[in-house]
Amino acid sequence: MAEEQIKQSPGVYRRKVGDALVTVVNDGFLDMPLAIMRGATRDEMEQLLRDVFGPPEPRITVNAFVIETGKHTVLVDAGGGSTTVYSMGLLPDNLAVAGFKPEDIDAVLLTHIHPDHSSGLVDKNGDAMFPRAEVFVHGDEFDFWSDPALRDGSVPAATPYLEPADMLLSTYKGRFRKTDGGEVLPGITQLHMPGHTPGHSGYQLDSAGDKLLIWGDTVHVPEIQIPVPGVTSEFDISEPQAADSRRKIFAHAAAERVVITGGHVHMPGFAHIVPHGEGYRLIPETWAVAI
Ligand SMILES: [Zn+2]
Repeated sequence: MAEEQIKQSPGVYRRKVGDALVTVVNDGFLDMPLAIMRGATRDEMEQLLRDVFGPPEPRITVNAFVIETGKHTVLVDAGGGSTTVYSMGLLPDNLAVAGFKPEDIDAVLLTHIHPDHSSGLVDKNGDAMFPRAEVFVHGDEFDFWSDPALRDGSVPAATPYLEPADMLLSTYKGRFRKTDGGEVLPGITQLHMPGHTPGHSGYQLDSAGDKLLIWGDTVHVPEIQIPVPGVTSEFDISEPQAADSRRKIFAHAAAERVVITGGHVHMPGFAHIVPHGEGYRLIPETWAVAI
């Protein structure tokens, strides 16, 4: 019998938020070595992974989101595309499975300019994947990655990502909308959550009394950083600020009982967060058969 590669079913999941429809679109995964995580011992982190029957080294999901408000079709983040690593780049196929064409997207909201969130905006030929979209990003983020002074290697956490950032910035030149928090599109508010990167932001969708908080990279490894919010990673441009933002967002989401999701929250990706011991606990929503 010929050996066949068994593939996962398409990574797409829909959920209503008020009158809006949100589609989670998986782009693949990333392996994230524990060696780059800081703020807890290796033993402590391995135990946290064992507690949830996880693998010894974290494998994290990479998701993007489409929000259909009736007025706009908005993509939040865009995955890693084909220019980064082997384990990402499923977004175009999964968007097609979900019934979206690239020209349907009229706005892209970036949580930040790291390749696993923004390189999917550029196609294999180096052209814009989304021909009609304006790209919204916090001004601090745009200015940080645009700064020529960064090219001297003074911010080591940024250095590996300069090339993909340059590619993005040149491909979408003239199509960026620099934002400063607040309502960026009707019913969608940008929340500045600096630390992971200077302009790292979440987006809150409010529709007909319902809310969803897309919290960007508030966590990379939910199994570790939700119970121990002080754990940071060497990807963070400012680790203390990233930990501080994470604690504030957790407190807000728990107090308001708001549904959260994020680029690295496992599929189907919607959850609540509740205080638990010194940290928090994630309570994922179950797969809904009817929307
Ligand atoms: Zn990320």
